[in-house]
Amino acid sequence: MNKFSRRAFNITLTKGIAGAGIISGMPFACAFGAEKNTKKSLGVALVGLGNYSTYQLAPALQDTHYCHLAGIVTGTPEKERIWSDKYEIPKQNIYNYENFDRIAENEDIDIVYVVLPNSMHMEFSIRAAQAGKHVICEKPMAVSVQECNAIINACKDAKVKLGVGYRLHSEPYTQEVKRFVSEKTFGNVTYISADAAYTSRGNPNQWRLNKALSGGGALMNMGVYSIQSAIYGTGENPISVTAQEYSTRPDYFKDTDETVTAQFQFPGGAAGNIMTSHNANANRLFASCERGWFQLEPANNYGPLSGQTARGPLSFPHESQQKLQMDDFASHILQGTPNRAPGEMGKRDMIVVEAIYESIASGNKKVKLNLGAMGLV
Ligand code: NAD
Repeated sequence: MNKFSRRAFNITLTKGIAGAGIISGMPFACAFGAEKNTKKSLGVALVGLGNYSTYQLAPALQDTHYCHLAGIVTGTPEKERIWSDKYEIPKQNIYNYENFDRIAENEDIDIVYVVLPNSMHMEFSIRAAQAGKHVICEKPMAVSVQECNAIINACKDAKVKLGVGYRLHSEPYTQEVKRFVSEKTFGNVTYISADAAYTSRGNPNQWRLNKALSGGGALMNMGVYSIQSAIYGTGENPISVTAQEYSTRPDYFKDTDETVTAQFQFPGGAAGNIMTSHNANANRLFASCERGWFQLEPANNYGPLSGQTARGPLSFPHESQQKLQMDDFASHILQGTPNRAPGEMGKRDMIVVEAIYESIASGNKKVKLNLGAMGLV
């Protein structure tokens, strides 16, 4: 069955069943909060059809079980025809940035996935929530803690679910690391190290190098992966951070940070060290524990990831991380399964990002953090 007929089938099924009044007998017919969702597969609209939507999210949405590509929102008129031909997206499910709010009237769309430059995440996430749609917001969640709060509040007010595009929480090697930590397989973690970096040599005018659009450089882009690794690799939020910034190509990185290192203290006593850069290549998580160690390398690319431990190698079958992530979020809405990357997690990471920038700005002073269990899933 192709995508279009599967969607048509689901909608027909939904309406037919609702009409017949047998909702309670359906496996996915659940009521959560203000909403009653009886669909088997939720419609996703991608906002921003750049590289990540084009090469990762849209292809992944062809294989998902609990959601499907139903609509697009683009500021580039030429992309409307290309996407509608390729994915059989009906005209009424295609929006631009101006008429986007009319998506509120569109029953084919349940989830809006914001895949725009970072400084645009807040506006489109809030507009999506106000249109009554569940929201997935790409990482970093926004460009400040204040903006994260605004997104979280808008989703709460609209009684819609909010997820951050942290695909690794649905990925098996990462889940195994989280299991090692929660079950103390190797005892307590005593040291965690996490690096996430790539060398940027492309267009110097790209939005990632423009602070107004990106909110910051390597730290905002790859740094959130290092922060995430350090936190799920210990199972704790840090209680302090000290950070440094290095610049070796200031002609290219005119506006944004090139390389950042930071050291964390964790409440259980572990020490942590992270590195992120737009001028180095690194992709690694390493944890030393009381009775052994574990490591992922690569730890945060699209996979397959690879892992080693004191007891031998890890091996899991590879599946699209984006497929797993979007199905997890759709299951959260349909079946009440846990939200693996809630808004509080994105906000927590932005608090850490801001503390790192604060430490750098203050000449590498230690900045205390009071996060409690915020965003720990
Ligand atoms: P991209 O540059 O390839 O695409 C950006 C899209 O935004 C384009 O379609 C562009 O037309 C549109 N856009 C609208 N206004 C713009 C403006 N003023 N300047 C530039 N582009 C504008 O970027 P991308 O790699 O697709 O990244 C988009 C978002 O997804 C970012 O927040 C990024 O951090 C995130 N991302 C996440 C992952 C992940 O693994 N979770 C991977 C890549 C990107």
